[in-house]
Amino acid sequence: MNNDKSGASDAARIPAPTPTPDARLATSRDLACVLKVVPAELQRKAARRAVALNPVNAPLREPVGAGVVVLEPQQIVVLTSRYWGPAERQLTVSFLEATDADLRGRIVSHMNAWSSVAGISFVETGDAGQVRISREPGGYWSYLGTDILQIPEDQQTMNLEAFTMDTPESEYHRVVRHETGHTLGFPHEHMRAELVARIDPDKAYQWFAETQGWSREVVDQQVLTPLDQSSIFGTPPDEDSIMCYQLPGAITTDGQPIRGGTDINQTDYDFAASIYPKVSSLAGVR
Ligand SMILES: [Zn+2]
Repeated sequence: MNNDKSGASDAARIPAPTPTPDARLATSRDLACVLKVVPAELQRKAARRAVALNPVNAPLREPVGAGVVVLEPQQIVVLTSRYWGPAERQLTVSFLEATDADLRGRIVSHMNAWSSVAGISFVETGDAGQVRISREPGGYWSYLGTDILQIPEDQQTMNLEAFTMDTPESEYHRVVRHETGHTLGFPHEHMRAELVARIDPDKAYQWFAETQGWSREVVDQQVLTPLDQSSIFGTPPDEDSIMCYQLPGAITTDGQPIRGGTDINQTDYDFAASIYPKVSSLAGVR
C-alpha cells in the first residue's frame, strides 16, 4: 500500500500455508504468472464483447480539461475492463489433456473458493468448457475475464503447468485461486500505481530476466505498467491480495518486499462479492 513497514498491517496477513514435503519442489519452480493478452487481431472484438456483456466495462475515463478527447481504438482496448456482468452465472470448465477425476475435482474446488461469496461458480463439463485448462509447459497463466470467450475452443484459457495430485495444497491456494481471479476479470494487484511506484525498473528488468527469462518488454507489460484507475473501483491497493505478486526487496526502491498474497484474503472476497453479488444465501465452503 505504501512504505509503511510497521507491523500494523501484518494483522491482515493470511497465515503461511502449512509446509508439505513437496514445498521444496514448489519453491524450485516458483513461476510468476503471466496475464495473457488476446492476440492483437482479436483485441477490438474482445473489448466490444466485454462491453456488450457488461456495459460497466466501458472506459470510464472522462477527458480531463477542456475539449473532447476521442480515444484511439487501442486506448479503448486497454481501458476496457473484462468483468462478467453482475447476474449470477456458472462458467463451464474442461481440461485439454486426459485428467483424472480426482485432479479435476480438486482444481475446480479451488476455483470455487471464490464462489463462497461471489455469484459466479465453476462446473465441469465433458464438452469444451468456457474455461479450458491445460497442464502443459508454459507456466501459470490465464486470460482476463470475458476475453476467454475469444480463444479458439482447442486452446486453453488457463495454464497450470505440471499440476498433479502431488502438488502441495498451498500451491492450489496460491496459484489456482490466483489464475481463477484472472478468469473472473481481476488484473494483477501489483500493477496498482502505488505499488508500481515502489519498483525500481532497472532492478526489475534484471531480476525478471534472471528468474523468469523475461524480456524488458514482458516486464514492462506484466509488472511496470500501472493499471488504469478507472478499472479498479477505488479499492485501496492491497499487497496481500491473492492477485499481487510476491516481489523481493531487491527490486523495490525502498528495499522492502512487496509481500504478495498466498490465498484469497478478506479484501479479495469483499471485492469479488461486491462486483459479483450473490443473490442466493447458500454459502459454500472456503
Ligand atoms: Zn497472474
